[in-house]
Amino acid sequence: MSPVPPREIITAWPKAELHLHLEGSIRPSTVVKLAARHGVTVEEFDVATRYEYTDFNGFIEAFKWVTSFLRDPADFVLVFERLARQLRGQNVVYAEITLSTGVWLWRGQDVEAIFLALREAQRAAAASGLRVQWIMDATRQFGAEKAMEVARWAARMMEEGVVAFGMGGDELSIPAEDFRGVYDFIRQNGLRAVVHAGEVGGPDAVRKAVEVLGAERIDHGIAAIRDSALMEMLTSRSIPLDLCLVSNLRTGALARQLGDKDAKLSAHPVGEFFRRGLLINLSTDDPPMFGTDLVLEYLTALETGLTVKDLARVGEMAFEAAFLPAAEKDSLVNKFRETVNSQGLV
Ligand SMILES: [Zn+2]
Repeated sequence: MSPVPPREIITAWPKAELHLHLEGSIRPSTVVKLAARHGVTVEEFDVATRYEYTDFNGFIEAFKWVTSFLRDPADFVLVFERLARQLRGQNVVYAEITLSTGVWLWRGQDVEAIFLALREAQRAAAASGLRVQWIMDATRQFGAEKAMEVARWAARMMEEGVVAFGMGGDELSIPAEDFRGVYDFIRQNGLRAVVHAGEVGGPDAVRKAVEVLGAERIDHGIAAIRDSALMEMLTSRSIPLDLCLVSNLRTGALARQLGDKDAKLSAHPVGEFFRRGLLINLSTDDPPMFGTDLVLEYLTALETGLTVKDLARVGEMAFEAAFLPAAEKDSLVNKFRETVNSQGLV
């Protein structure tokens, strides 16, 4: 046994995080501040109460409420700056941050003004050692036409650091086939493709995300645990799963996939995925909304039987799955390995 506690070992790793929603990163104290900017009085206690859901719908309701206070570009910048500080505090050196551009459009907001303000804030964060790229996300239940609008914005903003297009929202609402044209469009424009699938949907949702939409990474994908052939397909095609353990517990997704309403985090399939050789990485999804952070996600994975050494490999896989140029990826993986080696773990 290492004399150094796992928390310290993992915190020291220069980590990557790939599945993280900007609008899901708003802490209660920030909600209070944002609401006040817009003349609404909210207590931190109220926010904490709203963040106490136990299923996916409860989470979505809270998400809608909290994002209603994101009105001006400066509101988004405040949220980003606080998130960037929190990421640096955990030694996250690279993040792909998902923006709910589908929600911005739904609210009639100025996509260009918000995004360009975020890009400026991102440049400041880069100076502190946090490299960020953006994923613009469409909301599935708003339909293919609205998703195409997001895709067009993502393509327009590629030069400014948007690297991928994603789709979240209600996975069960509209079939993947409807979005084939949207994903064809983003690929033709050189954007990378991610899809939220197999969180509350079944194995078929993951399969369709890959086969119909050409997803290069899957957000969640935990339904794969129910289907050996699917796990083999993901392994042979090197499609990573961006896993968020605490999120899966809090939204009820874990209980749903395992068919056990009392499912505990120790039963999360992350351990089984790792042993079967799937490419996986750990992320937080919406950290304060689920009471988590990246170090806690790693510590939680230990409860499933993975060792700290296994987690060092998972940490490397996050960089391997990143949408970065090969040289940059190699350099970040090397730094990660140097730190792990210096700890005497391998
Ligand atoms: Zn997500």
